[in-house]
Amino acid sequence: MQHMTSTAPSPLETLERVFGYSSFRGDQAAVIDTVVAGGDALVLMPTGAGKSLCYQVPALVREGTGVVISPLIALMQDQVDAMAALGVRAAFLNSTQAPEQRRAVESAYVAGELDLLYLAPERLSVPSTLQLLDRGRISLFAIDEAHCVASWGHDFRPDYLQLAVLGQRWPAVPRIALTATATAATAEEIAVRLQLTEARRFVASFDRPNIEYRIVPKDNPRAQLLELLRTEHPGDAGIVYCLSRKSVEQTATFLTKNGIAALPYHAGLPAEVRSSNQSRFLREPGLVMVGTIAFGMGIDHPSVRWVAHLDLPKSVEGYYQETGRAGRDGEPATAWLAYGLADVVQQRRMIETSDGDAAHRRRLGQHLDAMLALCETVECRRVQLLAYFGQDSSACGNCDTCTAPPQTWDGTVPAQKLLSAVVRLDQRRQRYGAGHVIDILLGNETPRVKQLDHTTLTVFGVGADLTEGEWRGVVRQLLAQRLLAVGTDGYGTLEVTAGSAEVLRGTRTVALRREAPRSPRSRPARRS
Ligand code: ADP
Ligand code: ZN
Repeated sequence: MQHMTSTAPSPLETLERVFGYSSFRGDQAAVIDTVVAGGDALVLMPTGAGKSLCYQVPALVREGTGVVISPLIALMQDQVDAMAALGVRAAFLNSTQAPEQRRAVESAYVAGELDLLYLAPERLSVPSTLQLLDRGRISLFAIDEAHCVASWGHDFRPDYLQLAVLGQRWPAVPRIALTATATAATAEEIAVRLQLTEARRFVASFDRPNIEYRIVPKDNPRAQLLELLRTEHPGDAGIVYCLSRKSVEQTATFLTKNGIAALPYHAGLPAEVRSSNQSRFLREPGLVMVGTIAFGMGIDHPSVRWVAHLDLPKSVEGYYQETGRAGRDGEPATAWLAYGLADVVQQRRMIETSDGDAAHRRRLGQHLDAMLALCETVECRRVQLLAYFGQDSSACGNCDTCTAPPQTWDGTVPAQKLLSAVVRLDQRRQRYGAGHVIDILLGNETPRVKQLDHTTLTVFGVGADLTEGEWRGVVRQLLAQRLLAVGTDGYGTLEVTAGSAEVLRGTRTVALRREAPRSPRSRPARRS
């Protein structure tokens, strides 16, 4: 190859000499050979599989500077330091730098003194950056976190859209796009938007066999979490994900009060607090980080023993990414999620009232449906999770549905009672949330029920054979199966769907998952 001198080291020599590892893992060698030979690659590998080496090694083997596009500005200094510790000449350019720092990096690049140059994507919309790149020699472009180009995703970065410019302006420079997100749809979107449809694709197995998946009914989530940590993970480092900033703060305080050192992380905290909490989490053993999904992308903490979700993730991809931060060292780890009716109502309501066009809402709805199906499944969670990424597998023995297979029961009659109540109310041009509808079914004469004259409904009291908790399970599962819907009014009111009509007519049966009671506060499941 003309761009390589005869003394160019081989990838394996570089791996040993620079990184101190003796062999490549999985697809690493094939990816590296492709890029070293000047070809493009699209790499889908789960978190922890070793994506970084896939561009670091070729950047060292090929002549010139490897330009790495990364959205993780906060981590650039760490990445550069880690490279420097290995004797690799690395630097970064982003908006946080002083002008003289930036100029120093620029001249090092032009002088050919850098092996790796990390760039924030927005730098490429500045013409002077493109001109700067022209003045040096580029060995490759690596586009990290490439799923940021996918418009529906929660990590979407508009700046990623212009990265197609790389292939247009420097067609001879190999490009490698990397992501830990891997549905066929996302891979396709990355390929099209980054003009990498001709690139060789490498799709690793997404199985993380050392992670035990557990999804439990939400009762008192903070107390449930505390019990999990005390009984199974005392002193272990872990991450708690919450939906809102407020709940992040409250949960961190709750854990700390209960003797578990926990730090908050969310976009509302000052940058210094965030970065100090993040580095404490990485450096001090046994800390708990409580964060919104803003926390974690790019975090390389090998010994996170557990990840807990106190709120339902919006998509299976998000769930997979977040749980994937557990057990990166290969040792056993727990992925635990508490999930309940309020999560479904809240997320359906957020979608119904969100901005964006109908197609966008439909996509969000499909992502939520897949997440709900994973929560409600009575089959192996891992099989379902991998199937979502298009990968076949068999029952794993390391998830809650494998170790304690849930029973199903015929919920057709309760479903009909509930749907009738919603229909009856609708006939009176009234819509209510789950709590009030359940009061009607249970025959609870609450002040509101009496005031609204709902004791006179024919369905009043017809559901006294189930407990309130069981009714909440019925409502939740009907919502998950789209046999019931949340209205667009933003109040979480219940509505019937096309599927409801089939249930009411008796042409469709409803199989429900039976839940083990969670705490002494809920009555034991009925024996019938
Ligand atoms: P990813 O970016 O895919 O999440 P990283 O590139 O951060 O993963 O790699 C995860 C860890 O695995 C790192 O600590 C890295 O040094 C290590 N690693 C990667 N490849 C190898 C290898 N071939 N041999 C030994 N360790 C490796
Ligand atoms: Zn399983």
